[in-house]
Amino acid sequence: MVDIFDNRIICKKCNSEMKKQNIEKNGFILRSVFCPKCKERIIHPNDEQEYKKFISLKNKEFKVKMRMVGNSYAVSIPKEIVSFIKEQERVMNNMVKLCFEDFGRLSLNFDIKPDKNTRVIKAREYKLVRNNKPIIHIKEFSDSANPKNNKKVYKLGDE
Ligand SMILES: [Zn+2]
Repeated sequence: MVDIFDNRIICKKCNSEMKKQNIEKNGFILRSVFCPKCKERIIHPNDEQEYKKFISLKNKEFKVKMRMVGNSYAVSIPKEIVSFIKEQERVMNNMVKLCFEDFGRLSLNFDIKPDKNTRVIKAREYKLVRNNKPIIHIKEFSDSANPKNNKKVYKLGDE
């Protein structure tokens, strides 16, 4: 599948070529392109959709019941939340940390390993030049969440 961001994107306001840039919002990495001239920015539609899902989950209040299990109380974590974390291809440890944060407030911390599971998106472009003439033009793209989209394109000459 060809990603739309692999195309050359021209700013609709000033006709300049837009450049790729990843931005981070609330721990989320979003692919985007921006116009170096007028600062217009477009977020990758897939990432924007995922981010909206996250925000709507974040603002949602779930009513869960406490049940007595042995000498402890148990609450269930809504599947929606767990599925979303897993969808993001983050590995979740089944152990969670529970903290009594403030009076009347308990927090549950999922042990999400940042090393292997941080989504790393790289896009770079460079040219090999000899005698002021571009010989090879290389474009590289990699996304740890979608390794199938990784690619390296070589083009001869100045294209
Ligand atoms: Zn522009």
